[in-house]
Amino acid sequence: MQGFSTRAIHAGQEPDPTTGAVTVPIHPSSTFAQDGVGGTRGGFEYSRSANPTRTALQECLAALEGGRHAHAFGSGMGASDTLLRVLLRPGDHMVIPHDAYGGTFRLVDKVLSGWGVEYTAVDLGDLDALRAALRPSTKVIWCESPTNPLLGIADIAGLAGVAHAASVTHPPRLVVDNTFASPYLQTPLALGADVVLHSTTKYVGGHSDVVGGALVTSDDELAEAISFTQNSVGSVPGPFDAWLTLRGAKTLAVRMERHSDNAERVVELLAAHPGVDRVLYPGLPEHPGHEAAAKQMRRFGGMVSFLAAGGREAALKICATTKLFTLAESLGGVESLIEHPGQMTHASVAGSMLEVPDSLVRLSVGIEDVDDLLDDLRTALDAASA
Ligand SMILES: *Cc1c(COP(=O)(O)O)cnc(C)c1O
Repeated sequence: MQGFSTRAIHAGQEPDPTTGAVTVPIHPSSTFAQDGVGGTRGGFEYSRSANPTRTALQECLAALEGGRHAHAFGSGMGASDTLLRVLLRPGDHMVIPHDAYGGTFRLVDKVLSGWGVEYTAVDLGDLDALRAALRPSTKVIWCESPTNPLLGIADIAGLAGVAHAASVTHPPRLVVDNTFASPYLQTPLALGADVVLHSTTKYVGGHSDVVGGALVTSDDELAEAISFTQNSVGSVPGPFDAWLTLRGAKTLAVRMERHSDNAERVVELLAAHPGVDRVLYPGLPEHPGHEAAAKQMRRFGGMVSFLAAGGREAALKICATTKLFTLAESLGGVESLIEHPGQMTHASVAGSMLEVPDSLVRLSVGIEDVDDLLDDLRTALDAASA
């Protein structure tokens, strides 16, 4: 297999056969001329079903995750919804992480529950807890690693073992939301996962300029079902969005190395500052998931969370004081972001068992010059602990 960046830059991206253009063209066409009824030129009929720019992105994403099939979506949630429509029927049960992404929790708890889907939220760092939660009707085990925003780690190979031992005929499918790691740091299919999901809005796109999602699998039958359902419900990205995502993906490896370098320096600063109670980062040897993370990840990534020593007030003050770290939701772009999950990204889980501590601050460490990032954070931490 070719190296990661070679695949990122070339998979699905042969020079255009008619013009020689080295970048994949943006094909805005909604429909494609046929040479006689049913005689398509490249398998393209109508852009909800398939579009050449989207196909290029899909081939690239499949190559990056080491899967046979990829589907690109209009958003990460569009990908999640389409996948769960394929895998679940009324009365079925799924397991979700006890600190699932807030939007995933909302989809399961508020939308799918209305169609009779049941769920249990489990700490997936604990395989015994997972075994105890499984029912004969469990069809899906949904995993995030690292999790958002607490940066918990699940042992993906361990989860796959539990899932596939649960039933000989109909084992639950292990779905891994690989958004936080990106395919550069972690490839769950190689660890036994059945499907990988991405919000490509984050690291894959990488520039905070496009919303998108993806599913990758090596299961031919499942891929067929995803194609059918995606085409039926219409959760597709437009060609320009597919093109932006593909352009972002080309530099994923160099960006992830720099995100990881910068995050390691930020972690050092936070760990030594009296205004910080605890740093949550899987690269820290004392992190409970460190060993599993070291086994399954190339590096530990650009997401860092911490608990402010001064509680909620201090956390809010830090978020309000940084300048380079922009106060905003989302993550994974070249620019550094800061947020207060309790009142922002995770406000929808307040009062549920997924509620997060109110002293929690989440950083998406960007790829700016690290000394500037450290100065910015130090100033805000000093101000909040003064
Ligand atoms: C952002 C995000 C999603 C949802 O993706 P959208 O592109 O915003 O729809 C799902 N999972 C994780 C971990 C995310 O960070």
